[in-house]
Amino acid sequence: MTRSTSFGLCAALLVTVGCGTGGGPGSTSARGSVGTGTPRAASGDGPRVLVYHDMEGLAGQNDPTTYRFSHRDRYRVGQEMLIADLNAVIGGLFDGGAKVVHVVDAHGSGNTDPDVVTAKLDPRASQVIRDSAFMPYVGIVEPGIYDAIVAVGMHAKTGSRGFASHTYTLGIDLQVAGTSITESELVGYSWGRVGVPVIMVTGDDRLAADLATMPWIEFVVTKRATAADSAELRPTAEVHAEMAAAAKRALGKLAEAKTLTFVGPVTVGLRAVPPASLAFLEGVPGIRYRDNTVEFEAADFGAAFAGWEALIGTARQAYGQVLTEMIRGRPDGPALLGEYSDRLFQRWMDVESGRWVPPERPAPVPGKRYHGAN
Ligand SMILES: [Zn+2]
Repeated sequence: MTRSTSFGLCAALLVTVGCGTGGGPGSTSARGSVGTGTPRAASGDGPRVLVYHDMEGLAGQNDPTTYRFSHRDRYRVGQEMLIADLNAVIGGLFDGGAKVVHVVDAHGSGNTDPDVVTAKLDPRASQVIRDSAFMPYVGIVEPGIYDAIVAVGMHAKTGSRGFASHTYTLGIDLQVAGTSITESELVGYSWGRVGVPVIMVTGDDRLAADLATMPWIEFVVTKRATAADSAELRPTAEVHAEMAAAAKRALGKLAEAKTLTFVGPVTVGLRAVPPASLAFLEGVPGIRYRDNTVEFEAADFGAAFAGWEALIGTARQAYGQVLTEMIRGRPDGPALLGEYSDRLFQRWMDVESGRWVPPERPAPVPGKRYHGAN
């Protein structure tokens, strides 16, 4: 979800081939702290709920192509699974007394349309659509518009051995006060800034274990991960019934929910694993680099997120190594690499001669609507 490229969370899948120790709530770092807090009081006439959706933790899903827009036919099957999970949760939320339910795309598939097919969404819910591109995890956070957050179809964090486990994009591990976090916690910290708690998450069994950090949430296990690209499924109807019941329960105990708090300065980090890398930064003065990890002090959560985004953009530069590997393996690989060398040389010649300037970013199209960073 790098701002400059608009390649989202899992749009990374589209562009590649297709998305600690100690610490934890209550731990301190630098002079600040992270932990849990009490939510702001909910609005009087029924809770307003924002539902994030991702696309890797869906019920009935064990095929990675179903969350990759580049595999259109299978992605459409994934969209059906997504709408089924969402509608089960939305039904439960309204049964539980919700006044407003909005749905926002946190998958960023690269599809210019939302992953959620509007015509199939429970008509009582609506989608977050804006006039300009926005970052779903941080760009729509405002006080007083929602009382609770739900996250559907989420995945475990990098290194958790879940189905499609990752954090934000491929090869990225985000750390807060020395502890790796999931995207569900990222949402929790982000909305914690305005006193809104995450009350429910759905995803695989590995994510359930990751989220022991948020014991107040209702969690529905959709499947048991057996590898990053395989899972043992649970009966889908059973999972959907659980989702509806859990959503209703989550609103019933909204008063017991906690927010995640981030009071800076807090030490945060980004660790890269293949296909990403931060090894380029080793030895750069002023950068706290060790073992493919860069740490920095964040004054608040917004600063942490901005720093992570910049580092993610850097770490993703290593994805190109896979492309080089592919080219080397082809019969015409040496010729292509020779052409690449010539192109680099020519770009240098042209820039030095004033014949080449970088292309400008396309201007926003008037009237165009955005469902996220895409
Ligand atoms: Zn995703």
